[in-house]
Amino acid sequence: MLRRSLLLGASAFVASPAIAKTAAKPVVRVKTIALDPGHGGLDPGALGTVGTQEKGVVYKVARELQAQLQLGGRYKVMLTRGGDQFVPLRERVARAQEAKADLFLSIHADSHPDPYVRGASVYTLSEEASDREAAALAARENHADSMSRTAAEPDPVTRTLVAMTQRGTGNDSRRFADTIVNTFGKGGIRLLPHTHREAGFAVLTSPDIPACLVELGYLSNPQDEKLLTVYQHQMALARSLRGSVDAYFGAQGVTKKA
Ligand code: ZN
Repeated sequence: MLRRSLLLGASAFVASPAIAKTAAKPVVRVKTIALDPGHGGLDPGALGTVGTQEKGVVYKVARELQAQLQLGGRYKVMLTRGGDQFVPLRERVARAQEAKADLFLSIHADSHPDPYVRGASVYTLSEEASDREAAALAARENHADSMSRTAAEPDPVTRTLVAMTQRGTGNDSRRFADTIVNTFGKGGIRLLPHTHREAGFAVLTSPDIPACLVELGYLSNPQDEKLLTVYQHQMALARSLRGSVDAYFGAQGVTKKA
């Protein structure tokens, strides 16, 4: 807003100092980020060797990430569940769509029969799983919906993938996954080898919203379990994920919609 200067005549405008500062900034559309802490309520998710529950750990990281993303005023952040609540997977997708999210990040922690397996991993949607473990993980994560009373629709993955291909959402999702792998690597977060993998995750099936699922580590591994409950590590994970979101939008350009 400018205020007209009577002293300088009708054609002249001067900006007040505060207003001039605002006007000098480039126009940046605030992006909406949907954070999806996995599980909740009657579904605890994976359980650690000393009883740590996935639902609690991922909620804390999601809240920390929300706070960090909101700091710069560049993002509006919504969570798909508030507190210790059970929300069916399709409802999570619906909430993100309703908020017109530009990006969707589902946050989990995994479990493995081998207690030595540790490290974070990142997943995107695909009809065909990249490997058996990714397929088994998707089956485990999709199982959450069996706790919901609403009848599950037949597999929405194929239908979603066709729409995603038409809109380029799949490419954006894979690019987002790559930025997470990069920022985790730079932030010293331990990763699984070949960490970006693909499978049919029901929670990643919004055709319009680029989406990833991140497993922050393995609760079945005592070191990972301990780290995931330490506030400093939760902060470090949130910091790296904030860096990934920044890198994703930075590379895309500030005014182009995802
Ligand atoms: Zn999970």
